[in-house]
Amino acid sequence: MKRIGVLTSGGDAPGMNACVRSVVRVANAKGLEVLGILRGYKGLIEKDYIYMGPRSVSNIIQRGGTILRTSRCKEFRKEEVRKQVVENLSELKIDALIVIGGDGSLTGAKALSEIWEGKVIGVPGTIDNDLYGSDYTIGCDTAVNTALEAIDKIRDTADAHERIFLVEVMGRRCGFNAVQVGIGGGAEEVLIPETSSKLDDVVADLAESAAKGKKSCILIVAEGEEEGGAIEVANKLNKRTNKDFRAVVLGHMQRGGSPTAMDRVLATELGGYAVDAYLEGKSSVMVGKVGGKLISTPLEVVLSSKKPLDSYQIGLLPLLAT
Ligand code: ADP
Repeated sequence: MKRIGVLTSGGDAPGMNACVRSVVRVANAKGLEVLGILRGYKGLIEKDYIYMGPRSVSNIIQRGGTILRTSRCKEFRKEEVRKQVVENLSELKIDALIVIGGDGSLTGAKALSEIWEGKVIGVPGTIDNDLYGSDYTIGCDTAVNTALEAIDKIRDTADAHERIFLVEVMGRRCGFNAVQVGIGGGAEEVLIPETSSKLDDVVADLAESAAKGKKSCILIVAEGEEEGGAIEVANKLNKRTNKDFRAVVLGHMQRGGSPTAMDRVLATELGGYAVDAYLEGKSSVMVGKVGGKLISTPLEVVLSSKKPLDSYQIGLLPLLAT
């Protein structure tokens, strides 16, 4: 019987559990044994794993985090450590490895596939939605919805005090989350690394809004914004104006919580499709969903390409803030 390993690595994302569940159940149904590797690449180095059958993934589809745990594992960046991992994989009789994680984890997956004869299949699991090869990554929809819930609450207090709030959302160097939150939350301004957001323009826009009678505003700041995070931008704006800008950093709360329907379904589809990709003989690919179709893309292409933001959405933002 063929045996596969599955692990979750890097930043956790809601929906990782739904994906693990799908990998385990689909693999078992298709006659494969599954080992769950604990704490990402750390578990491969330490041979820390559990046997997984259909009952081992009961009642997890709705849970955030990951039952396999995750870690940032610096040692895996060293080639000699990865060579040891290849020996461990052969000792454990693992024929294929399914890696659920973000771009760092997939970079590790590619590095492993270059020295190991087993098959390596990546699954995009990150709240940042910054991976080429899938329109959405597992976790980003939940993270956006979590941010929206917070913003709806912040708007109440902003309105009551007639204040301007800057809300920082996660997403590393990618402004996707910020744009979705900005549109969904009715923000007056969105600062993202992909566009040159000059603070002079922000000051001018806010003055125009005030002249039109707006008493309170919400500005979304992407984590990777070049002007700085929400606190830094608020300090800069406070110095330039006589207004009282308040900053809120949503941070890790965006990672937690029960995955949305969209994340559960996407995670389940991608988990099953990762098993299928292995059975079809593919390796060193990431599975994803583009334009409603399940596809696989070579890791090399995924990691060397940038997924563009939706330019129509970005164009809408200033029109909606009038
Ligand atoms: P994410 O997968 O969420 O982007 P990280 O960037 O922290 O998170 O990467 C997760 C793990 O992937 C790292 O802790 C490391 O074990 C592995 N990894 C990242 N970059 C590399 C690399 N260049 N070579 C080998 N392994 C890597």
